[in-house]
Amino acid sequence: METTAINLLSDRVKNLSESATIAMARKSRELKAQGIDVISLSLGEPDFNTPDFIKQAAKEGIDQNYSKYMAVNGYEDLRMAISAKFKRDNNINYSKDQIVVSTGAKQSIANVVLSLINPGDEVIIPAPYWVSYEEIVKMAEGVPVGIETSIENDFKITPDQLKAAINTKTKLMIYSSPCNPSGSVYTKEELRGLADVLKSHPSIVVISDEIYEHINFTNSYFSMAAFDDMYNQVVTVNGVSKSFAMTGWRLGYIGAPNWIASACTKIQGQFTSGASSISQRAALAAVSEDPKVVIPMKNAFLERRNYMIKELRSISGFNINEPEGAFYLFPDVSAFFGKEFKGNKITNADELCLFLLEEAKVALVTGNAFGSPNCIRISYAASMEELKEAIGRIKNAISLLH
Ligand code: PMP
Ligand code: GLU
Repeated sequence: METTAINLLSDRVKNLSESATIAMARKSRELKAQGIDVISLSLGEPDFNTPDFIKQAAKEGIDQNYSKYMAVNGYEDLRMAISAKFKRDNNINYSKDQIVVSTGAKQSIANVVLSLINPGDEVIIPAPYWVSYEEIVKMAEGVPVGIETSIENDFKITPDQLKAAINTKTKLMIYSSPCNPSGSVYTKEELRGLADVLKSHPSIVVISDEIYEHINFTNSYFSMAAFDDMYNQVVTVNGVSKSFAMTGWRLGYIGAPNWIASACTKIQGQFTSGASSISQRAALAAVSEDPKVVIPMKNAFLERRNYMIKELRSISGFNINEPEGAFYLFPDVSAFFGKEFKGNKITNADELCLFLLEEAKVALVTGNAFGSPNCIRISYAASMEELKEAIGRIKNAISLLH
């Protein structure tokens, strides 16, 4: 009966992979519920609480009866505040009608992909990439086209690589900077090089995912849409989940050319009717505030990053670069492939993650899910105590490999 019922599912769902990050988090929760002491460094989620001024705004929103349906693309005052934020932080002019507020940046990205992709359209996704890009594109019956990078070039693509990946079927490119999972941040000059390639293909749209904008350890940040000659080709995605420790509030947004913003609103009008009213009141407080308020969180992430890099580099076999943003490390662990524990050979990153889960009780995510099979992703958005314990456990487990 069960098997028959599963066969009734659509091909769309059958072909969809479960989010690897969410799957690993689920596995850790299940093990913890069984009383097993697992440290989860699998999910990209700040361990901080949402700042008080944001919680206060949400409480006021409840008391002021923000409880009715609102415009599908979001409250007008929130869209005006996001418009001002784009001007303030990114030097991009988006009018309030070019902003669409959604239930998380994840939904923002899905809206854009569903708005643009017809079956067979190609979408360039430089690897390593965030797990959901590929699956969202597949859902829209598009064809993901990867571009490989490696730790030697800081996991960044070059203009020549981009040029080689473009053909007449290319419709979209999606990237994040700071990047999940590599932490790499594209400089203005590097983005200019990519823009020079893209501007000669004006029918290609670019999704610039800037959700880690404020978790950036370099002194500068540049958005692709701030280039005048790219403005009409770029959708800028952002949200409050990461910068303001608001993952559960489910609120993201885009700034986009009018025709794309309208299409996203049309989709959302049939799927969700928009983001939660209370989350929108909270987000209004968050985006209106001077981004300086999140500097203490950023500094805490930086301290943890430095600690983790130092410790991991002391373990032979972890080849690790210095991520400039987000809260992940993405070491190349191919040096461990071929090593054995109790007669079992570790042949890939999936098996190394499984070994570390079983022997060290530390949950990480395989690089395979991000399109880089030689790597693993370690989220350091955890307390220093947990990180110290995790490093000790990883060291012990690795010493068992030979
Ligand atoms: N983009 C990237 C690169 C991410 O890591 C995440 C993680 N959640 C998202 C988008 C989606 O964020 P949200 O919680 O706003 O849906
Ligand atoms: N984006 C985070 C991550 O990569 C949260 C989980 C998810 O949305 O996939 O771990």
